[in-house]
Amino acid sequence: MLVFQPLRLGRPTPMISVQSRQFQQIAVLGLGTSGLATARALLSGGAEVSVWDDDPNARKEALNENIALANPATIDWAKQDALVLSPGVPLTHPTPHPAAAAARASGKPVIGDIELLFENASGAKLVGVTGTNGKSTTSALIHHVLQFANITAQIGGNFGPPVLSLDPVLSTTTVVLELSSYQLDLIDKAAFDVAVFLNLTPDHLERHGDIDGYAKAKKRIFRNPRGAQQVAVIGVDDDYGMAIASELSEKDGWNVIRVSACQETPNGIHVIDGFLTDQEGKSFDVSAIGPLRGKHNWQNVAAAWAVARTYNITSEKIAASLKTFSGLPHRLETVAKINNIGFVNDSKATNVEATSHALALLDDIYWIAGGVAKEIQLATALPHLNHVRHAYLIGEAAEEIALELEKIRIPVTHSGDLYTALKEAHADAVVDDLPSPVVLLSPACASFDQFSNFEQRGDYFRRLVLSLAAGHET
Ligand code: ADP
Repeated sequence: MLVFQPLRLGRPTPMISVQSRQFQQIAVLGLGTSGLATARALLSGGAEVSVWDDDPNARKEALNENIALANPATIDWAKQDALVLSPGVPLTHPTPHPAAAAARASGKPVIGDIELLFENASGAKLVGVTGTNGKSTTSALIHHVLQFANITAQIGGNFGPPVLSLDPVLSTTTVVLELSSYQLDLIDKAAFDVAVFLNLTPDHLERHGDIDGYAKAKKRIFRNPRGAQQVAVIGVDDDYGMAIASELSEKDGWNVIRVSACQETPNGIHVIDGFLTDQEGKSFDVSAIGPLRGKHNWQNVAAAWAVARTYNITSEKIAASLKTFSGLPHRLETVAKINNIGFVNDSKATNVEATSHALALLDDIYWIAGGVAKEIQLATALPHLNHVRHAYLIGEAAEEIALELEKIRIPVTHSGDLYTALKEAHADAVVDDLPSPVVLLSPACASFDQFSNFEQRGDYFRRLVLSLAAGHET
């Protein structure tokens, strides 16, 4: 039974008020930061809201704020207008959450907060960014370039604050949205003025069934055109991107801009050997921008550049703005140099593809890896293992990775945990006394066996390194 309680004064003010659902009955499932922000934004817009999370701890904040709780098992879905799902709650795979199944069985829409933002975006320009890797970097870069050019922009979604806790959006505002496949699965009518699709490699298959299911979810970024000339910026360095670019180019109303870090793109933007060529054929050297090193980042640069050009920002201004981009934590983040030993936090590298870029860029690597493996035969899938001097393995996947590395004669230490791994890697690097060794945390695995998330893992690594640099025992 639903119990609606009076709102308690002092509830955090929602920044975006969801007017589009006034007087509707909306159930919200999943009470992480985005679920709570959604509930507040809906309540502020006048919806009747009930919330739930299967974890009693997560329900506490809702209780504190006097938001009505209702176990979805007790909800009469015939009386509800929609279910708003947090992206972490399974929609289809491995099995749909019973609430999602029940809502759908009653013909009720199951949506996410991006849909609600779209409904209440008041004509603001929406830039959506998706892809397997590079979403956060590209979103942050787009936001940075727009701000550099004095264009009012906010960033949110999968990266940054939940979208409904952003400042109210005006028609003069741009919102840059990093969009995961989970979030895209939960859009219906949402559309983006500029939709960016960077790349696609296997990831999150447990949530989408298989690679085709995953690709289908990602492709939903192009589900609905917005405006007469919808811009699609597409990375064409893999087969999926190529196919989507060809498909959309044939549709009326789509302006497809191809971007690449390995091939020339007629009418598009490409970066080859560190030199970016824009749509007018002008060339810019982007190879020396520290936080954007590496071919993978050049794809991100090309995509952000393409988006910025749609705002008529000059190529010269974009080039200047890139130089002031400070990079994101946990992505090839240089934490410190202790004597000649570099320490790099690449905790965000939770899959083989992401780690391969770190291994390609660095040399004489004392590599800390492991956690929860997403791929089988993870290590043998990695190129540039010849750059690794020694591997320090942690977490669940350690045994498996060790067997693979030993076969190709890479020395391995079973460190078990990150603290020990860092200590051992540092000690070996000191003894080996190479000119420029790097202790690299680039796990190629998810963190959930030992940490809450990759941020916690990377923050811990950074803290340990800084304490080592300050001369304290780690
Ligand atoms: P996402 O938000 O999609 O996870 P990030 O920008 O946070 O992507 O980068 C995560 C990791 O992915 C980085 O540490 C880097 O190793 C790798 N990466 C970044 N951009 C790309 C890209 N365009 N292609 C492939 N890998 C990338």
